[in-house]
Amino acid sequence: MTELENNRPATVRFAPSPTGYIHIGNARTALFNWLFARQNHGEFILRFDDTDEARSKTEFAEAIRADLEWLGIVPDTVAWQSKRGEAYAAAADRLREAGLLYPCFETGEELERRRKLRLARRLPPVYGREALKLTDEDRHRLEAEGRKPHWRFLLPNFADNPFETRRTEVHWDDVVRGPQTVDLASMSDPVLIREDGTYLYTLPSVVDDIEMGVTHIIRGDDHVTNTGAQIALFRALGSEAPAFGHHNLLTAASGEGLSKRSSALSIGTLREDGYEPMAIASLAVLIGTSESVAAMGSMSALLELFRPDFASKSAAKFDPAELTTLNRALVHDLSYEAVADRLAAMDISGPKADAFWTTVRKNIDFVKDAARWWSIVENGPVRDETLDDGDLEFVREAFALLPPEPWDGATWSVWTDAVKSATGRKGRALFMPLRVALTGIRSGPELADLLPLIGREGTLARRP
Ligand code: GLU
Repeated sequence: MTELENNRPATVRFAPSPTGYIHIGNARTALFNWLFARQNHGEFILRFDDTDEARSKTEFAEAIRADLEWLGIVPDTVAWQSKRGEAYAAAADRLREAGLLYPCFETGEELERRRKLRLARRLPPVYGREALKLTDEDRHRLEAEGRKPHWRFLLPNFADNPFETRRTEVHWDDVVRGPQTVDLASMSDPVLIREDGTYLYTLPSVVDDIEMGVTHIIRGDDHVTNTGAQIALFRALGSEAPAFGHHNLLTAASGEGLSKRSSALSIGTLREDGYEPMAIASLAVLIGTSESVAAMGSMSALLELFRPDFASKSAAKFDPAELTTLNRALVHDLSYEAVADRLAAMDISGPKADAFWTTVRKNIDFVKDAARWWSIVENGPVRDETLDDGDLEFVREAFALLPPEPWDGATWSVWTDAVKSATGRKGRALFMPLRVALTGIRSGPELADLLPLIGREGTLARRP
């Protein structure tokens, strides 16, 4: 367990853009933050990075909140970047006044042309700060032509002359990856504000992290390089940067990254498919770590195992089949009390519902699969399998030997002992035809447990 050294409670945030539904990879980030906060008596902020007005949708934000809650994550605070424009404008003004935010007028094509030129001259393909050479007159002329500037943050990677950059290392001790170094001279001055005045993610994120008192930024390792520039931005805004942690990403079985745009592995879809939240949470957290993947029955059990630095450095492949294995393991251990409401919603209730659940849970992958067995118990066998003539004869003979009521857990062996003596059949040749006659399926829960649930009357009604 990682207790914070100075005992200051942690404040973390999960900061999705509400531009789609969250998937298991996003759940990993959310859970790393959640578990870290729980371990450090901390606060968890859900922050919607919704500065991209065109793509952000309230409907997605609502779905993200519901998905997190279903996983067991209930934020202490919910914040929306779209409501915090003033704070970002004030920060941009401060940077401008300090000469750290400068207007640029290049088009995408111009930038691309320059990039190619630099590559051809074996220079790193970073922005050459040409806009810093513009005079006031140049700027007025460009603006008079209707050109609107975008704004870049001047990275502190030079001594006096911004055109002479020098290696400028930024170090941090990553709570997941250990010591990290990024060279600010290897990157372009990041664009903070677009031509239309909207903010890219970097400035709002840093402003919020400062104002919301975030102590630990835990996110995917696709952000490692951004972190160098962000640390510089924290300092430019007069703040010390918080701690950072970058966990490895999950990929699809094909090795491709998971995308919010494809709904296949969204948390909502997995929930509708019947997965238990702890199956998803267990896999989302434990995959690609030094712990082996196992089904944790509760968030506290997962918390016992969690250490942010247990994540490995390479991407981990997410395999949906593994999720089903975990789900099965969880379902096998679910008590009747834990599922009673869900069973009732499938009309599985009444005096035998409890014994029914204890009987079938070991044979199903999903709670919803109980419905099929309930129907077998209540209404009769599914007609998947038929009996050949010899077996049919045998089953008819066996049914004539059904013991009288009351029936209990011992009835099956009383019955089959009688059948064995009368027919000479034993083992599989004895029980498989009976199983098929009773359930219509060649595998399933223990017949000794099913028989009293079906009852004598129900059993007799299955006589072929
Ligand atoms: N909205 C950003 C993303 O989804 C947040 C990254 C961060 O946690 O700083 O990538």
